[in-house]
Amino acid sequence: MMIGEVTVMNEWMLENAGEIGEKEDPYWAVLACPSCGTLGLITRKQIAGILPVICGSDRCSAQFFLREDEILPRKPF
Ligand SMILES: [Zn+2]
Repeated sequence: MMIGEVTVMNEWMLENAGEIGEKEDPYWAVLACPSCGTLGLITRKQIAGILPVICGSDRCSAQFFLREDEILPRKPF
């Protein structure tokens, strides 16, 4: 069971939302990787569970989907 936490940075959002990342899918929150704990920026589509989150660490290849308050490992093909 993977347990993680999504941290929405309200102040950061107000100052930078829509200015960083792609216009249609801007970075929107900070997520600690459930596998290694590396903090990474995630986009609105990743928060919505439409796109998988891929860990940004060189030493970790974790991929997972967010489902409301849960983090689900991405199923291998
Ligand atoms: Zn990781």
